[in-house]
Amino acid sequence: MAYQTINPYTNEMVKEYKDATDQQLEETLQRGHELYKTFKKQEMKERAKILHQVAATIREKSDELARTCTTEMGKLLNESKGEVELCAVIADWFADHAEEMLQPDQIETQAHGQAEVHYQATGMIMMVEPWNFPYYQMMRVFAPNFMVGNPMVLKHASNTPSSAQLLADVIVEAGAPEGSLTNLFLDYDQVSKAIADPRVQGVALTGSEKSGAIVAKTAGEHLKKVTLELGGMDPFIVLDDANMDEVCDIAWRSRLYNAGQECTSSKRFIVMEKVYDEFVESLKENFSKVKPGDPLDPETTLAPMNSKKAKEQLQEQVEEAIKAGATVEYGNEPIDLPGQFFMPTILTGIDKDNPVHTTELFGPVAVVYKVASEEEAIELANDSPYGLGGIVFAGDKEHGAELAKQIETGMVFVNSFRYSLPEIPFGGVKHSGFGREMSSMGLKAFVNEKLILKADHPDTDNLSSGLVASQTLKK
Ligand code: NAP
Repeated sequence: MAYQTINPYTNEMVKEYKDATDQQLEETLQRGHELYKTFKKQEMKERAKILHQVAATIREKSDELARTCTTEMGKLLNESKGEVELCAVIADWFADHAEEMLQPDQIETQAHGQAEVHYQATGMIMMVEPWNFPYYQMMRVFAPNFMVGNPMVLKHASNTPSSAQLLADVIVEAGAPEGSLTNLFLDYDQVSKAIADPRVQGVALTGSEKSGAIVAKTAGEHLKKVTLELGGMDPFIVLDDANMDEVCDIAWRSRLYNAGQECTSSKRFIVMEKVYDEFVESLKENFSKVKPGDPLDPETTLAPMNSKKAKEQLQEQVEEAIKAGATVEYGNEPIDLPGQFFMPTILTGIDKDNPVHTTELFGPVAVVYKVASEEEAIELANDSPYGLGGIVFAGDKEHGAELAKQIETGMVFVNSFRYSLPEIPFGGVKHSGFGREMSSMGLKAFVNEKLILKADHPDTDNLSSGLVASQTLKK
């Protein structure tokens, strides 16, 4: 397996990494398992202090982190800086709130005694993460699980090894014990081996539907809990009474941010006919204003895609869409630069048989649909194998929220760009996966929700009535 940093702007190979050995994996699992036992005895406050220090060290090293990410997967430097800061925000938030959120819950019970659910660590977690937000994806799993006391082993994408190693090093430099998060350049078989290992108790994967299904199958075979954050074809619905200045200002950003390579990117614009022409004109105008160039240059507003392979795949999908009857409203022309640039493109006239109606386009290509009613908008929004996020723009936000309730996705933002913040849950339904990251839900993704019942006295009176359902108590 080749772990390589190839700059997608210059196409130069920057660095190559050696594959991990089975022995390194074994040592990592053993170290992590020992640390899990140590964490069990440690006050959570200790880890909160370290996690705040992780946030501080991330901020100190923000420039190096941002430049490494941009050089490795091509995103605009400003976006890399934003991602780095978000990681620090996530770390600080879990450091501040995890202990309180992990306090036992009291349960009202008919039993004679007190029932409590305690939230405890379960063991090591195998993380499999993608290249598109190399740091943020790591932090979404690392911060909550570090607070819980679950050590982690990371397999990052093969095209972002430098970012993966750098953040893993920063975490240790900030004071996290060795083994808290270990980045290894694993191949797929080694990932399966780690999942099968009894020291590993959970698997968190962010990536494509295909790898999600493969990894979840292995997890299922070994009865390991899994969370899957997969692809999306998020709808962006524009009602005819929406504030079109706000819509037009947000729509193009919502597609081109991170060069369109975001799971929650607005991939399908569903626009009421009254405002459709205005919408398409503004999208064209805004797409035409972006300036491709060196992503390290602050003047650049269109970044290259992350790799040659990704660009070629997107081009193939666009050609297939055109063959199946799509109209190119804008774009789909070569950009005369050596990097992996894809011209922002707008496709319309997509019917239900067109492959892009049901396939994710992971790059700067917008699909726009015209609809005659809100019912049609909802039907179209839900006509997707995915169910990750979505945006609704409506004149009245309460009415927008009524539509949001009808959309089959895990997240909907009304009259706003999407947010990703530590206090709000992130995740989807359908082929976008299951489980949530961030918030108290993400914090508890891999905990043992342990019932402890403290009885006032052994409930012998109820033994025969079945209320005390314990065979072992029967004499
Ligand atoms: P990918 O091919 O699934 O890669 C993601 C990770 O899975 C990489 O580390 C990859 O390693 C690994 N992987 C792939 N096959 C594997 C296998 N059989 N066993 C173990 N690991 C395996 O995804 P991608 O195409 O690079 O990333 C883009 C996808 O991720 C899109 O669909 C996007 O929507 C989705 N995504 C979702 C979210 C979310 O939160 N829902 C966030 C970001 C991205 P290699 O690189 O070595 O192949």
